[in-house]
Amino acid sequence: MKRAIFDDDHEAFRASVREFVERSVLPHAEQYAEDKGLPRDYWLEAGKQGLLGLEVPEAFGGAEANDFRFNAVLAEELSKVNAALPSCTGIHSDIVAPYLVELTTDEQKARWLPRFVTGELLTAIAMTEPSGGSDLAALKTTAVRDGDEWVINGSKTFITNGWSADLVVVAARTSPEKGAKGITLFAVETGTEGFTRGRKLDKVGQSESDTAELFFADVRVSDAQVIGEVDRGFISMMERLPQERLSCAVSNVAHAKQILLETIDYAKDRQAFKQPIGSFQHNKFLLAELVTRIESIEAYVDAAVLAHTKRELTAIDAAKVKWLSSQVQNEVLDHCVQLHGGYGFMNEYRVARAWRDARVTKIWAGSNEIMKELIGRDLGL
Ligand SMILES: Cc1cc2nc3c(=O)[nH]c(=O)nc-3n(C[C@H](O)[C@H](O)[C@H](O)COP(=O)(O)OP(=O)(O)OC[C@H]3O[C@@H](n4cnc5c(N)ncnc54)[C@H](O)[C@@H]3O)c2cc1C
Repeated sequence: MKRAIFDDDHEAFRASVREFVERSVLPHAEQYAEDKGLPRDYWLEAGKQGLLGLEVPEAFGGAEANDFRFNAVLAEELSKVNAALPSCTGIHSDIVAPYLVELTTDEQKARWLPRFVTGELLTAIAMTEPSGGSDLAALKTTAVRDGDEWVINGSKTFITNGWSADLVVVAARTSPEKGAKGITLFAVETGTEGFTRGRKLDKVGQSESDTAELFFADVRVSDAQVIGEVDRGFISMMERLPQERLSCAVSNVAHAKQILLETIDYAKDRQAFKQPIGSFQHNKFLLAELVTRIESIEAYVDAAVLAHTKRELTAIDAAKVKWLSSQVQNEVLDHCVQLHGGYGFMNEYRVARAWRDARVTKIWAGSNEIMKELIGRDLGL
């Protein structure tokens, strides 16, 4: 079905992202997986191409597009390569960007945004802790006032870009007695004494992304590192999680769609019993169903992208597209593996990697259970 949300400007931008992917990403894609992370050159090239500052004001070198359809185009094109690229890139340009653009002082903007846009200042966001991620309000990392400084102690885990980020947005408890209303966001930068990282975590999929544990031992930061208002961090995160979940939904669909299209080609080519496997009625009907399911979830996510462009996307709508798109993605990719037979279980096949890569999308950015909890609460249950 023809999609109706993109205009000529978005398609021109898509062409430039594709050019970037072909020139600067595809030749190195295998290396990223071996290195368990993206090299700085990836970020610098993306910066040169103007891909990292879509939401950043022009005054600081960004595109100031303020139209999430451009973010969606970027996520879609990167998702066609693998699932880790849109995740790492999206953490920086879709997820951290709003914190650094909307909550910062002019001095902080001038200090961070120009290098954020060029890829010289890579970012991550650290909410999850070893003791739990779903119950964000229960986080244990503390930031205690000492003179005119804050002293941060605690640890975070599963942090995307955590190993390579130059600046990490860290959620810490500043007023223990105030529960969710006592959390503040801090920018902790590489080189700050007491801030260390563990190894790159060994994941089941998405080897191209670096995911790390972070440790804070008496890390001292000044007020110049506080992002937004003291004790308002939880609300700041809740306000920005819908964009994170929408970004995930866009990638979920584009990633599954790409592999499905490749599987259709495979089913036309691969022979069994002297005929293409796709011509058996079971497989033909299955592929017909999968294409229909992908097109319907794509239309649903497109509607959410458009709503977000108009600033109308609710947290509940974002939860709905996040859980459903990750569920559909996983189901579609499981069928794609099956259609590839034994090759579908070989790591050298894209379909096998895509299937492994997709599993986490039902867990991260708020697990699907938490998404349903939010939706259920909204139903008055
Ligand atoms: C590859 C990867 C990258 C990530 N990147 C980041 C990142 O960049 N920054 C960051 O802060 N975090 C990141 N995360 C963390 C991720 O958001 C958390 O893993 C997720 O929120 C779940 O938290 P948890 O792992 O502590 O699971 P838990 O909270 O321990 O949950 C365990 C299980 O219990 C279920 N559960 C919990 N509460 C309920 C409930 N009320 N009702 C029903 N079921 C419930 C959960 O759905 C889950 O199935 C990443 C995780 C991974 C795996």
